Amino acid sequence: GCPGRPLELKGNIRVLCRLRPGTPSSLVSLEPGPGGTVTTCYRGHQRRFRLDWVFPPHASQEEVFRELESAVLSCLGGYSVCIFTYGQTGTGKTYSMEGPPEDPGIAPRALQSLFREMGTGGQHHVTLSMVEIYNEAVRALPFFARDLLAPGPPQRLAVRQGPAGEGGIQVAGLTHWDVPNLESLHQMLNLGRSNRATAATAMNQHSSRSHALVTLTLRTASPSSGPGTAGTLHLVDLAGSERAWKAGAAGTSHEDRDGAQRLREARTINRSLLALGGVMAALRARRPHVPFRDSQLTRLLQPALGPGATAVLLLQVSTRPEDLGETVCSLKFAERVG
Ligand code: ADP
Ligand code: MG
Repeated sequence: GCPGRPLELKGNIRVLCRLRPGTPSSLVSLEPGPGGTVTTCYRGHQRRFRLDWVFPPHASQEEVFRELESAVLSCLGGYSVCIFTYGQTGTGKTYSMEGPPEDPGIAPRALQSLFREMGTGGQHHVTLSMVEIYNEAVRALPFFARDLLAPGPPQRLAVRQGPAGEGGIQVAGLTHWDVPNLESLHQMLNLGRSNRATAATAMNQHSSRSHALVTLTLRTASPSSGPGTAGTLHLVDLAGSERAWKAGAAGTSHEDRDGAQRLREARTINRSLLALGGVMAALRARRPHVPFRDSQLTRLLQPALGPGATAVLLLQVSTRPEDLGETVCSLKFAERVG
Protein backbone atom coordinates (compact mmCIF):
# COMPACT_ATOMS: atom_id res chain seq x y z
CA GLY A 1 0.00 0.00 0.00
CA CYS A 2 0.89 3.63 -0.26
CA PRO A 3 0.19 6.21 2.41
CA GLY A 4 -2.04 9.12 1.58
CA ARG A 5 -5.54 10.25 2.23
CA PRO A 6 -8.40 8.53 0.45
CA LEU A 7 -9.76 10.10 -2.70
CA GLU A 8 -12.75 12.36 -2.33
CA LEU A 9 -15.04 10.84 -4.90
CA LYS A 10 -18.45 12.34 -4.38
CA GLY A 11 -19.91 14.03 -7.43
CA ASN A 12 -16.82 13.55 -9.54
CA ILE A 13 -15.04 11.62 -12.23
CA ARG A 14 -11.96 9.74 -11.21
CA VAL A 15 -9.58 7.53 -13.11
CA LEU A 16 -7.70 4.84 -11.25
CA CYS A 17 -5.26 2.41 -12.80
CA ARG A 18 -4.44 -1.14 -11.79
CA LEU A 19 -1.53 -3.05 -13.26
CA ARG A 20 -2.00 -6.75 -13.81
CA PRO A 21 0.52 -8.95 -12.03
CA GLY A 22 3.01 -10.57 -14.40
CA THR A 23 6.60 -10.47 -15.43
CA PRO A 24 7.92 -7.00 -14.58
CA SER A 25 8.96 -5.13 -17.67
CA SER A 26 11.47 -2.34 -17.98
CA LEU A 27 9.13 -0.79 -20.55
CA VAL A 28 6.42 0.01 -17.98
CA SER A 29 7.29 1.70 -14.70
CA LEU A 30 5.13 3.33 -12.08
CA GLU A 31 4.83 5.53 -9.07
CA PRO A 32 1.95 4.06 -7.06
CA GLY A 33 -0.62 5.79 -4.90
CA PRO A 34 -2.62 9.02 -5.18
CA GLY A 35 -1.66 11.14 -8.17
CA GLY A 36 0.56 8.26 -9.25
CA THR A 37 2.05 7.82 -12.67
CA VAL A 38 2.64 5.12 -15.23
CA THR A 39 5.56 5.61 -17.59
CA THR A 40 5.77 3.66 -20.82
CA CYS A 41 8.60 3.28 -23.26
CA TYR A 42 7.02 2.37 -26.58
CA ARG A 43 8.88 2.33 -29.89
CA GLY A 44 11.58 4.47 -28.36
CA HIS A 45 9.17 7.12 -27.04
CA GLN A 46 8.85 7.64 -23.35
CA ARG A 47 5.46 8.81 -22.08
CA ARG A 48 4.37 9.55 -18.57
CA PHE A 49 0.68 9.36 -17.62
CA ARG A 50 -0.70 10.76 -14.39
CA LEU A 51 -3.80 9.23 -12.83
CA ASP A 52 -5.87 9.85 -9.73
CA TRP A 53 -4.53 6.66 -8.23
CA VAL A 54 -2.18 3.92 -9.39
CA PHE A 55 -2.36 0.42 -7.91
CA PRO A 56 0.83 -1.60 -8.33
CA PRO A 57 0.63 -5.21 -9.58
CA HIS A 58 0.77 -6.57 -6.03
CA ALA A 59 -2.16 -4.45 -4.79
CA SER A 60 -4.83 -6.54 -3.11
CA GLN A 61 -8.55 -6.57 -3.86
CA GLU A 62 -9.05 -4.99 -0.46
CA GLU A 63 -6.71 -2.08 -1.26
CA VAL A 64 -8.55 -1.41 -4.49
CA PHE A 65 -11.93 -1.47 -2.79
CA ARG A 66 -10.74 0.80 0.01
CA GLU A 67 -10.39 3.63 -2.51
CA LEU A 68 -13.88 3.03 -3.85
CA GLU A 69 -15.82 2.46 -0.66
CA SER A 70 -16.77 6.07 0.08
CA ALA A 71 -18.07 6.48 -3.46
CA VAL A 72 -20.05 3.25 -3.17
CA LEU A 73 -21.60 4.32 0.11
CA SER A 74 -22.62 7.71 -1.27
CA CYS A 75 -25.46 6.00 -3.11
CA LEU A 76 -27.10 5.57 0.31
CA GLY A 77 -27.47 9.34 0.31
CA GLY A 78 -29.47 9.18 -2.90
CA TYR A 79 -26.57 9.66 -5.28
CA SER A 80 -25.86 7.78 -8.47
CA VAL A 81 -22.54 5.97 -8.59
CA CYS A 82 -21.01 4.26 -11.63
CA ILE A 83 -17.88 2.15 -11.49
CA PHE A 84 -16.36 0.93 -14.76
CA THR A 85 -13.54 -1.50 -15.43
CA TYR A 86 -11.84 -0.64 -18.70
CA GLY A 87 -9.00 -2.29 -20.57
CA GLN A 88 -7.66 -4.84 -23.00
CA THR A 89 -9.03 -8.37 -22.68
CA GLY A 90 -7.01 -10.36 -20.17
CA THR A 91 -5.85 -7.42 -18.06
CA GLY A 92 -8.09 -8.23 -15.08
CA LYS A 93 -11.35 -6.27 -15.57
CA THR A 94 -13.50 -9.16 -14.40
CA TYR A 95 -10.98 -10.10 -11.73
CA SER A 96 -11.24 -6.61 -10.27
CA MET A 97 -15.00 -6.34 -10.61
CA GLU A 98 -16.01 -9.83 -9.53
CA GLY A 99 -12.90 -11.60 -8.35
CA PRO A 100 -12.60 -15.30 -7.62
CA PRO A 101 -14.81 -16.59 -4.76
CA GLU A 102 -11.81 -16.81 -2.42
CA ASP A 103 -10.72 -13.26 -3.17
CA PRO A 104 -13.82 -11.21 -3.99
CA GLY A 105 -13.63 -8.07 -6.07
CA ILE A 106 -15.46 -4.76 -6.15
CA ALA A 107 -19.03 -6.02 -6.70
CA PRO A 108 -19.30 -8.43 -3.77
CA ARG A 109 -17.38 -6.06 -1.50
CA ALA A 110 -19.57 -3.13 -2.47
CA LEU A 111 -22.76 -5.06 -1.78
CA GLN A 112 -21.46 -6.26 1.54
CA SER A 113 -20.41 -2.78 2.54
CA LEU A 114 -23.78 -1.31 1.56
CA PHE A 115 -25.73 -3.93 3.47
CA ARG A 116 -23.52 -3.49 6.51
CA GLU A 117 -24.12 0.24 6.40
CA MET A 118 -27.88 -0.12 5.94
CA GLY A 119 -28.13 -2.42 8.94
CA THR A 120 -31.27 -4.37 9.62
CA GLY A 121 -33.65 -1.50 10.22
CA GLY A 122 -35.61 -2.31 7.08
CA GLN A 123 -35.76 1.31 5.92
CA HIS A 124 -34.27 0.47 2.57
CA HIS A 125 -35.82 -1.25 -0.37
CA VAL A 126 -33.15 -2.77 -2.60
CA THR A 127 -33.59 -4.03 -6.15
CA LEU A 128 -31.10 -5.62 -8.50
CA SER A 129 -30.83 -6.09 -12.25
CA MET A 130 -28.04 -7.66 -14.26
CA VAL A 131 -27.77 -7.30 -17.97
CA GLU A 132 -25.23 -8.08 -20.62
CA ILE A 133 -25.09 -5.62 -23.48
CA TYR A 134 -23.81 -6.56 -26.89
CA ASN A 135 -22.87 -4.39 -29.76
CA GLU A 136 -23.67 -6.12 -33.00
CA ALA A 137 -23.43 -4.71 -36.45
CA VAL A 138 -26.25 -6.78 -37.90
CA ARG A 139 -29.54 -5.85 -39.53
CA ALA A 140 -32.63 -5.61 -37.38
CA LEU A 141 -31.12 -5.46 -33.92
CA PRO A 142 -28.11 -3.21 -34.05
CA PHE A 143 -27.94 -3.31 -30.29
CA PHE A 144 -29.29 -5.91 -27.94
CA ALA A 145 -29.08 -7.07 -24.42
CA ARG A 146 -29.50 -10.21 -22.38
CA ASP A 147 -31.08 -10.38 -18.97
CA LEU A 148 -28.68 -12.32 -16.75
CA LEU A 149 -31.23 -12.90 -14.00
CA ALA A 150 -34.35 -13.90 -15.97
CA PRO A 151 -35.32 -17.56 -15.64
CA GLY A 152 -35.45 -19.76 -18.74
CA PRO A 153 -33.26 -19.84 -21.82
CA PRO A 154 -31.28 -16.71 -22.74
CA GLN A 155 -33.34 -14.17 -24.65
CA ARG A 156 -32.31 -11.20 -26.68
CA LEU A 157 -33.86 -7.99 -25.45
CA ALA A 158 -34.01 -4.87 -27.54
CA VAL A 159 -32.77 -1.55 -26.30
CA ARG A 160 -35.46 1.07 -26.87
CA GLN A 161 -36.47 4.60 -26.24
CA GLY A 162 -37.74 4.89 -22.64
CA PRO A 163 -41.16 6.25 -21.68
CA ALA A 164 -41.73 9.89 -22.59
CA GLY A 165 -40.45 12.23 -19.93
CA GLU A 166 -38.01 9.75 -18.46
CA GLY A 167 -35.42 10.34 -21.15
CA GLY A 168 -32.74 7.98 -22.32
CA ILE A 169 -33.23 4.44 -23.50
CA GLN A 170 -34.06 1.22 -21.73
CA VAL A 171 -33.61 -2.49 -22.02
CA ALA A 172 -37.12 -3.69 -22.88
CA GLY A 173 -38.39 -6.35 -20.47
CA LEU A 174 -35.39 -6.37 -18.13
CA THR A 175 -36.30 -7.96 -14.80
CA HIS A 176 -35.67 -6.16 -11.52
CA TRP A 177 -35.48 -8.28 -8.40
CA ASP A 178 -36.21 -7.41 -4.81
CA VAL A 179 -33.27 -8.10 -2.57
CA PRO A 180 -34.32 -8.99 0.96
CA ASN A 181 -30.85 -9.60 2.35
CA LEU A 182 -27.16 -9.88 1.59
CA GLU A 183 -27.25 -13.63 1.18
CA SER A 184 -29.84 -13.51 -1.59
CA LEU A 185 -27.90 -10.68 -3.20
CA HIS A 186 -24.79 -12.83 -3.40
CA GLN A 187 -26.83 -15.71 -4.81
CA MET A 188 -28.22 -13.45 -7.53
CA LEU A 189 -24.80 -12.10 -8.34
CA ASN A 190 -23.45 -15.64 -8.70
CA LEU A 191 -26.40 -16.65 -10.86
CA GLY A 192 -25.85 -13.67 -13.16
CA ARG A 193 -22.16 -14.41 -13.36
CA SER A 194 -22.66 -18.04 -14.33
CA ASN A 195 -25.39 -17.06 -16.81
CA ARG A 196 -22.96 -14.67 -18.43
CA ALA A 197 -20.44 -17.46 -18.89
CA THR A 198 -22.89 -20.09 -20.21
CA ALA A 199 -24.85 -17.72 -22.43
CA ALA A 200 -21.61 -16.56 -24.00
CA THR A 201 -20.70 -20.13 -24.94
CA ALA A 202 -24.18 -21.14 -26.11
CA MET A 203 -24.61 -18.13 -28.36
CA ASN A 204 -21.06 -18.22 -29.68
CA GLN A 205 -20.33 -14.91 -28.13
CA HIS A 206 -17.43 -13.91 -25.96
CA SER A 207 -17.70 -11.93 -22.78
CA SER A 208 -14.79 -9.84 -24.05
CA ARG A 209 -17.20 -8.37 -26.63
CA SER A 210 -19.97 -7.44 -24.24
CA HIS A 211 -20.49 -5.04 -21.40
CA ALA A 212 -21.88 -6.52 -18.15
CA LEU A 213 -23.96 -4.10 -16.11
CA VAL A 214 -25.05 -4.71 -12.52
CA THR A 215 -27.49 -2.14 -11.18
CA LEU A 216 -28.48 -1.86 -7.57
CA THR A 217 -31.22 0.59 -6.64
CA LEU A 218 -31.70 1.65 -3.04
CA ARG A 219 -34.89 3.38 -2.05
CA THR A 220 -35.05 4.87 1.39
CA ALA A 221 -38.55 4.67 2.72
CA SER A 222 -39.21 7.81 4.69
CA PRO A 223 -42.18 7.17 6.98
CA SER A 224 -43.30 10.80 7.14
CA SER A 225 -42.83 12.29 3.71
CA GLY A 226 -43.86 9.73 1.13
CA PRO A 227 -41.28 8.19 -1.17
CA GLY A 228 -37.72 8.78 -0.07
CA THR A 229 -34.51 9.16 -2.03
CA ALA A 230 -33.31 6.59 -4.53
CA GLY A 231 -29.62 5.95 -4.93
CA THR A 232 -28.19 3.75 -7.62
CA LEU A 233 -24.97 1.82 -7.98
CA HIS A 234 -23.93 0.72 -11.46
CA LEU A 235 -21.05 -1.70 -11.78
CA VAL A 236 -19.95 -2.03 -15.38
CA ASP A 237 -17.46 -4.60 -16.62
CA LEU A 238 -16.78 -3.11 -20.05
CA ALA A 239 -16.01 -5.00 -23.26
CA GLY A 240 -12.34 -5.40 -24.15
CA SER A 241 -10.80 -2.19 -25.41
CA GLU A 242 -8.41 -3.78 -27.92
CA ARG A 243 -8.37 -2.00 -31.22
CA ALA A 244 -10.25 -3.02 -34.33
CA TRP A 245 -7.18 -3.91 -36.35
CA LYS A 246 -6.17 -6.51 -33.81
CA ALA A 247 -9.58 -8.18 -33.62
CA GLY A 248 -9.79 -8.29 -37.42
CA ALA A 249 -6.24 -9.40 -38.02
CA ALA A 250 -6.87 -12.79 -36.42
CA GLY A 251 -8.93 -14.03 -39.39
CA THR A 252 -7.12 -16.17 -41.96
CA SER A 253 -8.56 -16.92 -45.44
CA HIS A 254 -11.15 -19.56 -44.50
CA GLU A 255 -12.12 -17.50 -41.47
CA ASP A 256 -12.55 -14.33 -43.47
CA ARG A 257 -16.25 -14.00 -42.82
CA ASP A 258 -15.74 -14.51 -39.14
CA GLY A 259 -12.85 -12.07 -39.24
CA ALA A 260 -14.99 -9.45 -40.96
CA GLN A 261 -17.74 -9.96 -38.40
CA ARG A 262 -15.28 -9.54 -35.58
CA LEU A 263 -13.91 -6.42 -37.16
CA ARG A 264 -17.40 -4.93 -37.33
CA GLU A 265 -17.98 -5.87 -33.71
CA ALA A 266 -14.70 -4.38 -32.65
CA ARG A 267 -15.69 -1.13 -34.33
CA THR A 268 -19.04 -0.96 -32.55
CA ILE A 269 -17.53 -1.94 -29.25
CA ASN A 270 -14.96 0.73 -29.75
CA ARG A 271 -17.60 3.27 -30.60
CA SER A 272 -19.33 2.78 -27.26
CA LEU A 273 -16.02 2.93 -25.40
CA LEU A 274 -14.96 6.06 -27.26
CA ALA A 275 -18.34 7.62 -26.55
CA LEU A 276 -17.99 6.76 -22.89
CA GLY A 277 -14.60 8.48 -22.86
CA GLY A 278 -16.12 11.55 -24.49
CA VAL A 279 -18.95 11.68 -21.98
CA MET A 280 -16.64 11.31 -18.99
CA ALA A 281 -14.24 13.93 -20.33
CA ALA A 282 -17.14 16.38 -20.81
CA LEU A 283 -18.51 15.69 -17.34
CA ARG A 284 -15.13 16.07 -15.73
CA ALA A 285 -14.46 19.37 -17.50
CA ARG A 286 -18.03 20.46 -16.66
CA ARG A 287 -18.69 21.26 -20.29
CA PRO A 288 -22.24 22.37 -21.04
CA HIS A 289 -22.69 19.77 -23.75
CA VAL A 290 -22.23 16.13 -22.80
CA PRO A 291 -22.33 13.84 -25.87
CA PHE A 292 -24.52 11.10 -24.40
CA ARG A 293 -26.12 10.43 -27.76
CA ASP A 294 -22.88 9.21 -29.36
CA SER A 295 -23.52 5.58 -28.46
CA GLN A 296 -26.22 3.28 -27.14
CA LEU A 297 -24.15 2.51 -24.06
CA THR A 298 -23.88 6.17 -23.07
CA ARG A 299 -27.55 6.75 -23.86
CA LEU A 300 -28.41 3.84 -21.59
CA LEU A 301 -26.25 5.24 -18.80
CA GLN A 302 -27.32 8.86 -19.29
CA PRO A 303 -29.66 8.95 -16.26
CA ALA A 304 -26.90 7.40 -14.13
CA LEU A 305 -24.26 9.93 -15.19
CA GLY A 306 -26.30 13.06 -14.57
CA PRO A 307 -25.45 15.96 -12.25
CA GLY A 308 -24.13 14.92 -8.86
CA ALA A 309 -23.20 11.46 -10.09
CA THR A 310 -19.90 9.84 -9.25
CA ALA A 311 -18.10 7.92 -11.95
CA VAL A 312 -14.95 5.91 -11.44
CA LEU A 313 -13.01 4.39 -14.29
CA LEU A 314 -10.72 1.61 -13.16
CA LEU A 315 -8.23 1.23 -15.96
CA GLN A 316 -6.66 -2.22 -16.16
CA VAL A 317 -3.34 -2.48 -17.94
CA SER A 318 -0.82 -5.17 -18.70
CA THR A 319 2.93 -4.80 -18.26
CA ARG A 320 3.78 -7.46 -20.87
CA PRO A 321 6.04 -6.15 -23.63
CA GLU A 322 3.75 -7.62 -26.33
CA ASP A 323 0.78 -5.68 -24.88
CA LEU A 324 2.58 -2.36 -24.75
CA GLY A 325 0.70 -0.83 -27.69
CA GLU A 326 -2.63 -1.58 -26.01
CA THR A 327 -1.35 -0.36 -22.66
CA VAL A 328 -0.40 2.98 -24.22
CA CYS A 329 -3.85 3.18 -25.90
CA SER A 330 -5.61 2.57 -22.58
CA LEU A 331 -3.50 5.19 -20.84
CA LYS A 332 -4.24 7.68 -23.62
CA PHE A 333 -7.92 6.96 -23.12
CA ALA A 334 -7.51 7.73 -19.42
CA GLU A 335 -5.61 10.92 -20.24
CA ARG A 336 -8.51 12.08 -22.37
CA VAL A 337 -10.99 11.39 -19.58
CA GLY A 338 -8.84 12.81 -16.82
P1 ADP B 1 -10.49 -9.42 -18.44
O1 ADP B 1 -11.82 -9.50 -17.75
O2 ADP B 1 -9.94 -8.02 -18.50
O3 ADP B 1 -10.49 -10.05 -19.79
P2 ADP B 1 -9.68 -11.28 -16.42
O4 ADP B 1 -10.25 -10.61 -15.22
O5 ADP B 1 -10.46 -12.42 -16.97
O6 ADP B 1 -9.42 -10.22 -17.58
O7 ADP B 1 -8.18 -11.70 -16.06
C1 ADP B 1 -7.41 -12.51 -16.91
C2 ADP B 1 -6.64 -13.51 -16.06
O8 ADP B 1 -5.72 -12.84 -15.21
C3 ADP B 1 -7.54 -14.31 -15.15
O9 ADP B 1 -7.05 -15.62 -15.07
C4 ADP B 1 -7.40 -13.61 -13.80
O10 ADP B 1 -7.64 -14.49 -12.73
C5 ADP B 1 -5.96 -13.13 -13.84
N1 ADP B 1 -5.76 -11.90 -13.05
C6 ADP B 1 -6.09 -10.65 -13.45
N2 ADP B 1 -5.77 -9.74 -12.52
C7 ADP B 1 -5.23 -10.42 -11.50
C8 ADP B 1 -4.70 -10.04 -10.21
N3 ADP B 1 -4.67 -8.76 -9.80
N4 ADP B 1 -4.21 -11.01 -9.43
C9 ADP B 1 -4.24 -12.30 -9.82
N5 ADP B 1 -4.73 -12.73 -11.00
C10 ADP B 1 -5.22 -11.81 -11.84
MG1 MG C 1 -13.67 -10.20 -18.43
